[in-house]
Amino acid sequence: MIAWGWKKKGEAEWSGIIQCQACQKWRLHYGIRVKRWFTLFFVPLIPLWSDSKVICAVCRHEQKLPRPEYEEIGREAAARLAEVDAANEQRAAAARAELAG
Ligand SMILES: [Zn+2]
Repeated sequence: MIAWGWKKKGEAEWSGIIQCQACQKWRLHYGIRVKRWFTLFFVPLIPLWSDSKVICAVCRHEQKLPRPEYEEIGREAAARLAEVDAANEQRAAAARAELAG
């Protein structure tokens, strides 16, 4: 008997901050690539297709995007997240300095 089927595997490729289309706020989002595989005896053999989607970390709204757009948004989102991280780090350093007084 040959056991064949397919399997979906999602992989997070980036995270960053963009404006959510559902909650309209600037939120953390994840860029996820979902691949569908043809499996034989439960071993993934051939990738059938893949989708790129962006998911809001807060409301879980999903948006499917064409690959180039998905990658561009991912770069912008990651840059914005890095800015927020840097600003938080500065604020934390200022608070530490104040405490050390
Ligand atoms: Zn949202």
